[in-house]
Amino acid sequence: MTNSIAIFCGSALGTDSVFLEAAQKVGETIAQQGKTLVYGGGRSGLMGVVADSALNAGGKVIGVIPEILVNKELAHPDLTELYVVQNMQERKMKMSELSDGFIALPGGTGTFEEIFEQWTWAQLGIHLKPCAFLNVDGFYDDLISFLQRATEKGFTHSRFMETLQYSSSIEEILYQFDHFIAPEPKWGMVEKPEIANV
Ligand code: AMP
Repeated sequence: MTNSIAIFCGSALGTDSVFLEAAQKVGETIAQQGKTLVYGGGRSGLMGVVADSALNAGGKVIGVIPEILVNKELAHPDLTELYVVQNMQERKMKMSELSDGFIALPGGTGTFEEIFEQWTWAQLGIHLKPCAFLNVDGFYDDLISFLQRATEKGFTHSRFMETLQYSSSIEEILYQFDHFIAPEPKWGMVEKPEIANV
């Protein structure tokens, strides 16, 4: 059962209202399903929208933000809980520990980096948690094609591509997360992830 869901998404709103609407739906759905939202703790862009929407629907929202962004007053002021950490590496480790699954909404490089890191950690056996792309309005179509090419060309094992979730429906992704069977990691499980992660 996935009780805590990490959302990675844009610190911008994007050009189309469809992204904002999707982010609202994600926050609301996570809250309505009684799950905890874990995210980067910011108040800008889609990040702020997801957090506000989960809070408004009575959900629990945990933010994990590096000190440098708090100092720039970018932290969300009304979260259930806010972890202030030293740096980005610590943030990603903390978010990974706190979450049972990871979803990327539309976003930029920060979003891509975060979801790819968690997917890589799953392949290395640092954890066995599911990863997904919420494919709002075809935003991730080209990326998914490219990942399929990397798989066909022998650089990503098909079992990792087959267990990566991508859908335009948040309900579908959450359902898949709850029924997720993790693929065998590439080289077996890492026994001390806290060492592997740094
Ligand atoms: P991007 O997709 O490039 O907008 O970056 C978004 C990701 O980077 C988020 O998931 C955050 O973890 C992090 N990030 C970028 N900007 C901020 C911000 N202003 N406040 C908090 N986190 C941020």
